[in-house]
Amino acid sequence: MRQLLLDLFGDTAQPLDTPANQGEQRAPQHSNPKHGAHDRWDSPPPAPTHAPPRFTHPRANRAIVLDGAHIAYHLRRGQRRTIGFTVDTGGLTVSAPRWSAPAEIDAALREKQRWIVTKLNQARQRHERLQAMRIVWQEGASVPFLGQPVILHLDARQRHGPGGAVLTSANPSPGVPCLTLRLGLPHSASPEQLREATQAWLMRQARRVFTARLDHFAPQLGVRWQRLGLSSAGTRWGSASADGAIRLNWRLIHLREPVIDYVVVHELAHLHEMNHGPRFWQHVQAVLPDYADRRNELRNQSASNW
Ligand SMILES: [Zn+2]
Repeated sequence: MRQLLLDLFGDTAQPLDTPANQGEQRAPQHSNPKHGAHDRWDSPPPAPTHAPPRFTHPRANRAIVLDGAHIAYHLRRGQRRTIGFTVDTGGLTVSAPRWSAPAEIDAALREKQRWIVTKLNQARQRHERLQAMRIVWQEGASVPFLGQPVILHLDARQRHGPGGAVLTSANPSPGVPCLTLRLGLPHSASPEQLREATQAWLMRQARRVFTARLDHFAPQLGVRWQRLGLSSAGTRWGSASADGAIRLNWRLIHLREPVIDYVVVHELAHLHEMNHGPRFWQHVQAVLPDYADRRNELRNQSASNW
């Protein structure tokens, strides 16, 4: 069965290999809609910063200045024929043949300095976003829902029973949305109970909203979807199978509806085209002419890590 997946983090730890002793080098693989089932979705370039950035790998054993950035990296030598680079939240790892001269490694790094510094910045920004999204599970915590903050309120008298929850608009002044999620939990509830009750509510909302959006867009695309599965994969927003099964990451429910719609339409369009060729994008564009803006907004998101 054919299946296409929509990666969450396009550029996570994508290794870049460089032939060590030859002139030719493989170009960085940026987002290419023709990559097929495992295409990568790159993040936008990092915002300019003022202080010269420093990046330090926890196991750093060499350092270099690239493009104005001070980079302490982890050099790993082994039985390989090429010099490869990997960037993840820890920093830069360089894998080199056992006998590569330091000057040769430096030259390979300089050759790809733009790619390396961009990836390091992106990894740092992603880490910072995830830190900012950490939720302290207590009364008054704020959780994003459809792009808006929802304040958690513990209310054991809440009628929907233990673990139940109801969304109320606490201050319905026009233009000032203030949503409160009343959880049927006592004030003595543990952070874990809060998290579980909130996630259960969010997943119910995800199924409701995603189903409605799939039903809304499927006729416009002239396709029929069969099943909705909610995933919590840390690395994917969605996937589609040729038999009409759609899987969507329930954490999309944190995002604005225009962004959710983009993922819904993207996956439905795969029921026409199991690839990312020009015809695939024509299907997407026919329904969402501004899909590129929505896709950019999605690229700026990180999945919450709770
Ligand atoms: Zn796709």
